[in-house]
Amino acid sequence: MPPLSPVSRRSFLQGMLLAGAASALKFRPLHAEAAPAAALAAGRAQQAPLFPQAPLARQPFALLPAGSIKASGWLLRQLRIQADGLGGHLDEFWPIVGSDSGWSGGKGESWEDGPYFLDGLVPLAWQLDSPGLKAKAMRFIDWTLDHPWENGMFGPRGNDDWWPRMVMLKVLTQYHELTGDARVMPLMTRYFHHQLEALPGRPLRDWGRMRWQDELLSVLWLYQRTKDARLLELAHLLKQQGYDWQGMYAHFPFTQKTDAEALRKQAGASDAFMQDLGLQVHGVNVAQSLKASPAWSLVSGGAADRDAIHHQLKMLDTYHGLPNGMFSADEHLAGRSPSQGTELCTVVETMFSLEVALAVTGDAALGDRLERIAFNALPAALTDDMWAPQYNQQPNQVECSLHRQPWTTDGPESNLFGLEPNFRCCTANFHQGWPKFANSLWMATADRGLAAMSYAPCTVTTVVRDVPIVVEQFSDYPFRQTVSITLKPQRALAFPVRLRIPAWSQGTRVAVNGKPVEATPGFTTIERTWMPGDTIELSFAATVKVERGYNGALSFSRGALVYALPIKENWVIWRKRGLTNDWQVYPGSRWNIGIEPHVQVAVSEHPVADKPFAGAAPAVRLSMQGRYVPAWKASDGSADAVPAKAEPSGDEDVQAISLVPYAGAKLRIVAFPALG
Ligand SMILES: [Zn+2]
Repeated sequence: MPPLSPVSRRSFLQGMLLAGAASALKFRPLHAEAAPAAALAAGRAQQAPLFPQAPLARQPFALLPAGSIKASGWLLRQLRIQADGLGGHLDEFWPIVGSDSGWSGGKGESWEDGPYFLDGLVPLAWQLDSPGLKAKAMRFIDWTLDHPWENGMFGPRGNDDWWPRMVMLKVLTQYHELTGDARVMPLMTRYFHHQLEALPGRPLRDWGRMRWQDELLSVLWLYQRTKDARLLELAHLLKQQGYDWQGMYAHFPFTQKTDAEALRKQAGASDAFMQDLGLQVHGVNVAQSLKASPAWSLVSGGAADRDAIHHQLKMLDTYHGLPNGMFSADEHLAGRSPSQGTELCTVVETMFSLEVALAVTGDAALGDRLERIAFNALPAALTDDMWAPQYNQQPNQVECSLHRQPWTTDGPESNLFGLEPNFRCCTANFHQGWPKFANSLWMATADRGLAAMSYAPCTVTTVVRDVPIVVEQFSDYPFRQTVSITLKPQRALAFPVRLRIPAWSQGTRVAVNGKPVEATPGFTTIERTWMPGDTIELSFAATVKVERGYNGALSFSRGALVYALPIKENWVIWRKRGLTNDWQVYPGSRWNIGIEPHVQVAVSEHPVADKPFAGAAPAVRLSMQGRYVPAWKASDGSADAVPAKAEPSGDEDVQAISLVPYAGAKLRIVAFPALG
């Protein structure tokens, strides 16, 4: 293992830990009204969504306040799997977020892990309305809200790093929307005022400098509620001190797999991760950067800022794009080979950036991408029971064992499934993926209507034009292509409903109470007086699509799902880790198969299982023929790059193969050499 990254990064973090342990400063609790018990128990009465007002720029959509959307159907089952897995039990055996966490007053870990864990635990606990999970979250929230520093800082005394607080601010904004806890806004106000004074002398650095845009969201969240002009000053200061992502992408220099040697050279004897190059091409930073321009455009009012995300995604797709909707980052940008990996933090942070960007830009294509990541890359990176995440997932993943290749900078544990393979950030951070996705399924529209942004079964309870309304969405999408929506306004009410139409669906059918409505690309708008019980039926046209990727490789998708050839999996426990295990997975069948570009594909649908993405019972199969390509082999546990010219075996028969949804195949091929 190179002396480079994980080790030096770990020692940096270790320093943070020790600093936490050394702290014995006194604190003075902030005397503020505690959360009303009833609000904590049941959540708040429904609130109307908030849109930015002048001097902030307008945006076409706004996320509904957390708590407005409850998952149902398969998505609710998925959230329960998360709660029954690491999501609901991590604090019981992982000391990093255990009783000694610095974020609950202990002397233990005091940096990003506590806030990361809460960023998913808080929305999960309220999604499921689980008293047990809420109590787990309140241990951290209460301590944080009741123990601010005298100068306005908050959080553990052991460090004054701006970065972990940026994550905790995201937690507090969600928590306030869920409960209305009166302690939240005063704490945030004092902190932001402190930061405005302190930043000139103690500017943003390393992670905080690269991730300033996440704090900007919380600053604007508070500004919308308090109209405190100093918050806009702070927004400008964050932008000024933060890294210029838009500038980087405008002349995107990172068109190759990151050269680990170059990182080492730049760093010299110090930590390569913490140097500019190491931070600019760092996958999680890049994922978070995707919200920088849209978020800043709310302050600047600039259309070029707002729309810069399209160019950013184009650069990432062109030079680092993968068939699962992600870009490679293992853990630095790694080119387009489907044997490169993507860190799980990068997956969930890209999702959150897209949820924000979708609201600000109103571009339906960002919803297509969000779904591709949510329904493929996210569930692929965890065991079906969500007890063991991976650090790096490979699109072509033929073995999950200890190996050093082909990562740019990550260590040999990187694609094991386990408690904290390679490094522990993903263990705490993956929890935000599903609950925040659920919270972004529907949004409010600027013309005071509602919009379906992504599709999954759910119930929306909100207020439109001052009238309470419940919207129920029934669907097995993305495993099926129909969606049924029932609107239940308290009384007859005129307002627009917008429905995102995925670009892959050519020939979508839309009907209101059985009468067809014309579907338009992007968003279909239906403006009418809605009566309680009115229904909208959507029927998407999902055909099998063949996409060309790295070295002309073929990948298959149908609708929002990407399909993979499952490889027989032999799971072996490498280490027992308390309530879970670290696993290696070895292949039990041949995987080196090529496919003709114009292959005939037969689609068969099967029941959606209790675990919707489980590999044991795939909900859809694509059947076709392929041929072995004996020259395509694996090295050090990873498939060699897909050959550009695939020579099929002369003496092997044509093979009948069956592709299944990507996420269920933990060993798989998704990018096939093209035969012929
Ligand atoms: Zn991570």
